[in-house]
Amino acid sequence: MAGAVSRYGVDRETLAELLAGHPAYRVGQVWDGLHRRLLDPLAVTDLPLALRHRLHEQLPAALAPAGEAVTDGGATVKWLWRLHDGAQVETVLMHYGERTTVCVSSQAGCAMACGFCATGQAGFERNLAVGEIVEQVVRAARRARPHRLTNVVFMGMGEPLANYDRVWPALRRLHDDLGLSARHLTVSTIGVVPGIRRLAAEELPVNLAVSLHAANDADRDRLVPLNRRYPLERLMAACAHYVETTHRRLSFEWALIDAVNDRPGDAVELASLARPLRAHVNLIPLNPTPGYATPGTPADGVRAFCRRLRSLGVNATVRHNRGKGIDAACGQLRASLSGAGADAAHPARTVNLSPTRMASTRTSPAPTTPPGHTTERTSSPCTTAP
Ligand code: SAH
Repeated sequence: MAGAVSRYGVDRETLAELLAGHPAYRVGQVWDGLHRRLLDPLAVTDLPLALRHRLHEQLPAALAPAGEAVTDGGATVKWLWRLHDGAQVETVLMHYGERTTVCVSSQAGCAMACGFCATGQAGFERNLAVGEIVEQVVRAARRARPHRLTNVVFMGMGEPLANYDRVWPALRRLHDDLGLSARHLTVSTIGVVPGIRRLAAEELPVNLAVSLHAANDADRDRLVPLNRRYPLERLMAACAHYVETTHRRLSFEWALIDAVNDRPGDAVELASLARPLRAHVNLIPLNPTPGYATPGTPADGVRAFCRRLRSLGVNATVRHNRGKGIDAACGQLRASLSGAGADAAHPARTVNLSPTRMASTRTSPAPTTPPGHTTERTSSPCTTAP
């Protein structure tokens, strides 16, 4: 697991212990410096210098930059981070209109094994610690300035509800200490039913997104292996319970795959699940990944599917596909999980990629193998190209 305590993994009590012998108000100063002001301990200048240095050492950062890519004219930034044990994860920051959203990873790799997702193709490495999750948000919030970070979505690498015991405390930290409201926090799940039920029992009602992709068990068993364990009937019951308990809007994610889940009948089935729950459907044309040959639905097919859903009474939007060129689009996040780049001998590498240079990066054996996922929850009318 996450080894030593990191600066955003430490709780207030542990911090107070670290500050034993100092005036009590120091705890608040440090806590505030880290969470409200997003500062490195060295930069909390209202602390004595020696204390700043000691905290900087005793509370190390959990994330070391291993690569960075910028695209969409600077509106999308993707980081590859190296963790203390060499594991790598990614974070994506997106500016869109009034909204500044960070997409965070909850695990290094993923055990859910969805064949169309790059992270699923690579397999599971380990759960992230609370500090590793929270620090992704802090780094993004710093980078977002002068904009304020408005939204956090757990749509990066991993299945957040398979790492509930770290994801939930991280969400609390984002809410309680970073000041993000519950309606701006979204957990996306492939359908871990017990996790949805646990989430429904929490006092903080965050948004729930369910990655559906198919609306009958035969198709969903094929696309999403976890469906065999938690079939649609159980999943929909858990979703209904979530909506009733939290009064939050539920959304269904649907990656449109050519001739697989974009047929008129698929829209009808999907509508029959979405309507009773008043679920909002987010359509994402499938992004290409190395291990899945079937292409995404072409743009006109995406629009047609969206229109069909709307005509069936479903609130549906096509999601902007941000960061595609840097493999920061949905399901493309896949850090190189071993080998080059995972050891301390490789210095951090920062790449500012212009669109024309991206292709070469994609094929290079550099530490930053393309992972990436960017899902910006923006609506566009069915008539707009994704
Ligand atoms: N495990 C969680 C969160 C990570 S995936 C979940 O499945 O919800 C974030 C979103 O990207 C999900 O909706 C996922 O199904 C979708 N996705 C995965 N691979 C994709 C791909 N190749 N193209 C488009 N979307 C994809």
